[in-house]
Amino acid sequence: MTKPYKTIEDCKDLRGARVLLRGDLNVPFQSGCVTDKSRLEALAPTVKFLKDHKAITILLSHFGRPGGEKDMDYSLRPVAECLVDMLGYQVTFVPDCIGKPVSDAVADAKPGDILICENLRFYSGETDNDPEFVSKLAKNGDIFVNDAFSAAHRAHASTSGLASVLPAYAGKLMDQELSALSKIIQAPARPITAVVGGAKVSTKLDVLENLVSKVDHLILGGGMANTFLFADGTNVGKSLHEPDMVKSVERIMTAAKDSGCIVHIPTDFVVADKFEKHVETCVKPADQIGQNEMALDIGPESIEAIKKVINTSRTLLWNGPMGAFEVPPFDCATNAVAQHAAAQTDKGDLYSVGGGGDTVAALENAGAKDQFSYISTAGGAFLEFIEGKTLPGVEALKQA
Ligand code: AMP
Repeated sequence: MTKPYKTIEDCKDLRGARVLLRGDLNVPFQSGCVTDKSRLEALAPTVKFLKDHKAITILLSHFGRPGGEKDMDYSLRPVAECLVDMLGYQVTFVPDCIGKPVSDAVADAKPGDILICENLRFYSGETDNDPEFVSKLAKNGDIFVNDAFSAAHRAHASTSGLASVLPAYAGKLMDQELSALSKIIQAPARPITAVVGGAKVSTKLDVLENLVSKVDHLILGGGMANTFLFADGTNVGKSLHEPDMVKSVERIMTAAKDSGCIVHIPTDFVVADKFEKHVETCVKPADQIGQNEMALDIGPESIEAIKKVINTSRTLLWNGPMGAFEVPPFDCATNAVAQHAAAQTDKGDLYSVGGGGDTVAALENAGAKDQFSYISTAGGAFLEFIEGKTLPGVEALKQA
């Protein structure tokens, strides 16, 4: 089937062409170090393709939220250094993303060279998709390649604007994400189950409302399950929950009922009175959480119920951990459910897809990541795509 956008494979002659490559270098970063290189690894095939075809690659990305200011805490320089180590190529860091520093570096570059520019979000024109900023970026390129699927839900200068002023192509990662995720939304094997966990209902409200009309089962876990219990009149003690989301929860439950989606809320929890590593815990039924207790993971009865739902499912979409998985033993349920989904996938009974930074880390922690059918590098864009929303970065490529 022909694709509704062009890919870099469609570029006729890349030799010496100045390619503005939008990647996603917005990686987890702590104490000067990149703590998870997955996004860099995912971008590497496009960088290699452009290098092998002797293009001059000008890599653009955002990093954090510097708010349109030159805030060196958000400099891409250390990320660029990590990318150099990983790629093993000579790469030049350019301390700006527009203007003379870039045009000079491009003029000095030879076919096959790679330049990495400073954080796009040092300019508010990036997030405002300001045409003047778009044209300053475009000045240094002959073509635009978008490989940042994880930023495609934003209509920014480098995700959307550039595609309207330069010949635009999808990079290898963008193409891979769109192909894999389109398969799921166009012709999913049923029943489809969505596992949605994580911290808060408020951050995934739209997703939950839209998902219930598309999936057969919605399994809830993590802090957001506490809010669903609270909305149903259950005391959740000191557990993470959002009292002001009660009306939203009711709306989601009504939408689920109207579309025949079965919502699975945990029936038991692992509780503790402190949120610490290897703290003393006990398992309690949902309606017996004490006033001073916190539900930090879902319990064994809930895990077994989830496994049964997974056994009847053919497609599984996962975003958000079942508990506070970074702090053992509150990773138990996430590990158990992830390993079960991985085993079902291995047997050929399930097509499993995970997406989102925390989710990928949680699946990795469970040793289940490699067995999943597909892992998306994106969080927000992954969710918006599977809900059926139009992503501005993808639309711009289609219209280019
Ligand atoms: P999200 O980014 O919404 O997917 O949320 C991921 C975060 O939710 C992780 O850092 C988890 O530690 C946290 N989380 C999951 N379950 C709980 C819970 N029961 N209580 C507190 N935090 C939780």
